[in-house]
Amino acid sequence: MITDESPSMLRVVNPTTGKLNTALPAATAEDVAKAAEQAQQVFDAGVWSRLPVRERSAVLLRLADLMERDAELLARLDSEDAGKPISECRAGDVPGAIESIRWFAEAADKIFGRVAPTGADCLGLMSREPIGVVAAILPWNYPLAMTAWKVGPALAAGNCLLVKPAEATPRSALHLAELAAEAGLPDGVLTVLPGHGPVAGTALARSPVVGALSFTGSTETGRRILKDAAESNFKRVSLEMGGKSPQVLMADALAYGQDLIDGMIEAAFLTMGQNCTAGSRILVHESIADEVLARFTAAAQKLVIGDPAHPRTQLGPLIDHAAFSRVAEAVEAARAGGARIHTASLPDGLPPRAAYYPPTVITRAPEGSDVLTKELFGPVVTMQTFTTEAHAIRMANATAYGLAASVWTRDLDAAFRLAHGIHAGVVSVNCYSEGDITAPFGGWKESGCGGAEKSTNAFEQWTREKTVWIRTR
Ligand code: NAD
Repeated sequence: MITDESPSMLRVVNPTTGKLNTALPAATAEDVAKAAEQAQQVFDAGVWSRLPVRERSAVLLRLADLMERDAELLARLDSEDAGKPISECRAGDVPGAIESIRWFAEAADKIFGRVAPTGADCLGLMSREPIGVVAAILPWNYPLAMTAWKVGPALAAGNCLLVKPAEATPRSALHLAELAAEAGLPDGVLTVLPGHGPVAGTALARSPVVGALSFTGSTETGRRILKDAAESNFKRVSLEMGGKSPQVLMADALAYGQDLIDGMIEAAFLTMGQNCTAGSRILVHESIADEVLARFTAAAQKLVIGDPAHPRTQLGPLIDHAAFSRVAEAVEAARAGGARIHTASLPDGLPPRAAYYPPTVITRAPEGSDVLTKELFGPVVTMQTFTTEAHAIRMANATAYGLAASVWTRDLDAAFRLAHGIHAGVVSVNCYSEGDITAPFGGWKESGCGGAEKSTNAFEQWTREKTVWIRTR
């Protein structure tokens, strides 16, 4: 008998209350193979892939409208599954996801092919074509938002997409698929396969049918997927992975006053620091370090920590107790190595079953220690000082990651030099930002490879270019 506790079931638990949100059958390797075959048939039938692009756009625009109608439900699903503050889901994740679907729907018919500069006896046409059956594997920290970054361009380009949401957070993707059906998307164009990474995820990565796979998650899993792709059909793989992003504060950064502190707090603690672009390493000019530390820790202490369902809550619990132990162990190892730990206090009366970790700043961490180089994925930042711009750039680049960075200075020349010198896919100046939907987002080094998300660049992940060479006589 299959019960909710069976390994073949996916148990989705609210990280705050410990209550079961839902239990679903977990997709098996056979389920994935069957879904891929069905998707291939739908693709070949052309009901979506050969639909005039403006008709595809119309369906996706209807989907965006339906997401708007169900925005509150979508926000609640992500908040309950991931433990994210509902205010974040309402103000960030859900509007961002709607914008992504709408933007790619509108962009789809503005992607043109090219003509080669040949002589008069030839015509070389390069056109972008959908790949066929494609797949997306998603993390739990921005469930709907990351799904929409992939669904928008993959479907707008005419592919059939298989989506594997993270184990902890499948419900918003499942609801998105229901809304897509309501919007008129043909059956088999978007299939959501809730399941376990090593089973359903591996089956997608090794599928001989899937032609492209876009992954967002940890660097460790990304490495595994790249190997699986190489050992199967050399599917095109794009990976958006972890980070250890610096926030660089030059000597004049305090000129930005409260904007600086607010930006730093957001960079450090958005989604409880469980954020790929978290500004988890503060690099500050030694002349302002004491004041920055005092103001930053005071602001961290004021954060509203509590039940994510409450609209005023800014910090909820970590995703689970394993994450708590991982963060706590890293902080304790830093303390044992001589670092100083500045910890905000947690309020009384927090939900007892939840894994709340207090906002924490680590100073004087020994050079090369794990807290300075490894992604902790929690509300913990390190603070280090530098003396010169070159020193700041050296420190900013001293990890294997290269996802994002922020730079604070009134000196435009210095800002350009830092932005140029820091090895990261996105550098924001005098703010913490990943840029809007019009700007590409993709990591460097061990943070990403294989193509960016957002902007028209995203179509490169989901289309392939064909050359048609015509001899004229
Ligand atoms: P994860 O790597 O544990 O899981 C991500 C997804 O991969 C899940 O759906 C999981 O089921 C699946 N998976 C696990 N093992 C697999 C395997 N062997 N084959 C195929 N799929 C497998 O990551 P997570 O804990 O869900 O997310 C946190 C990580 O994601 C962090 O490192 C964070 O920095 C990163 N992230 C990156 C971005 C970005 O845009 N760069 C955005 C959000 C999160």
